[in-house]
Amino acid sequence: MGKVLYVVIPCYNEEEVLPETIKRLDKKMKTLITEKKIAKKSKVMFVNDGSKDGTWKLILEAHQQNSLFTGLCLSRNKGHQNALLAGLLTAKKYADIVISMDADLQDDLDAMDEMIDKNIKGADIVYGVRSSRKKDSFFKRFTAESFYKIMHFLGVEVVFNHADYRLTSKRVLEALDGYEEVNLFLRGIFPLIGYEHDVVYYERQERFAGESKYPLKKMLHFAWDGITSFSIKPIRLILNLGILLFIVSLLVTIYCVVVKILGYTVDGWTFLACSIWLVGGVEMLSLGIVGEYIGKIYSEAKKRPRYHIARDLEEEND
Ligand code: UDP
Ligand code: MG
Repeated sequence: MGKVLYVVIPCYNEEEVLPETIKRLDKKMKTLITEKKIAKKSKVMFVNDGSKDGTWKLILEAHQQNSLFTGLCLSRNKGHQNALLAGLLTAKKYADIVISMDADLQDDLDAMDEMIDKNIKGADIVYGVRSSRKKDSFFKRFTAESFYKIMHFLGVEVVFNHADYRLTSKRVLEALDGYEEVNLFLRGIFPLIGYEHDVVYYERQERFAGESKYPLKKMLHFAWDGITSFSIKPIRLILNLGILLFIVSLLVTIYCVVVKILGYTVDGWTFLACSIWLVGGVEMLSLGIVGEYIGKIYSEAKKRPRYHIARDLEEEND
């Protein structure tokens, strides 16, 4: 007998794709249940993120007609990451494993089989990774790939070319519950949680219907959230720059004094030049030091769990 699987799908104004998504998922879930890969109680949970079109009506209809489908309706539009979190934390009450995906059928449903197999083999998190971005426009591909590279440079652990198509076990979601941060960047949190993980590659399709709900402005906001919620490296850069500038300012001061003693200057120049450099150096250094404390406050304020225990042999003995 397989585990109870919940598929969590955030939806924002998705009336154009939902009928097709429902049709394909119905088929997929029925096959998985017949093959005994997942339990009969498995479901698809749509999260309506304050849609202004007929999305919720379609979810309600699907739920009334077919017990495979269930729904969650948020009070208003809260954004993709919050809608996803709401779905994941609600689904964890009923499910053993949860797969999250988008409503637009860009993620290959057939990758679910492999995700479930890898979970059976012991992976608590299975990341869906796009094997190529051929179907994305040059602009989308370039910006997305640059983003992953910048994140990597800033020391943030993210899985390259992985969006939010992933399988997670119940204990991973329980760990996720401990992360209380408000500026969510879920794909950065899962690598922090740890546990055994694996990867499944799939070809990303074009959106089945409708338009992207991530226009450039939202995308930039999301990327900025990802950087500023996970890295204090930008603050470190200020401190390093401050130290460097301070040292340079000391050297410039010595130079000015030497030039003055040798008599190569006009009146007042030494005082002015030294003041500018020293004040600048001290200011930048102070800013860096203040920044370090802000960095500490930032990580304390997040109250992230300090560890997650994968196995406790003492408990296993009982
Ligand atoms: N979405 C959401 N709330 C929002 C924006 C998007 O729940 O405020 C959902 C959307 O319905 C979709 C998923 O997030 O299921 C990803 O959005 P989309 O496919 O438009 O993003 P893209 O693939 O273009 O990056
Ligand atoms: Mg999409």
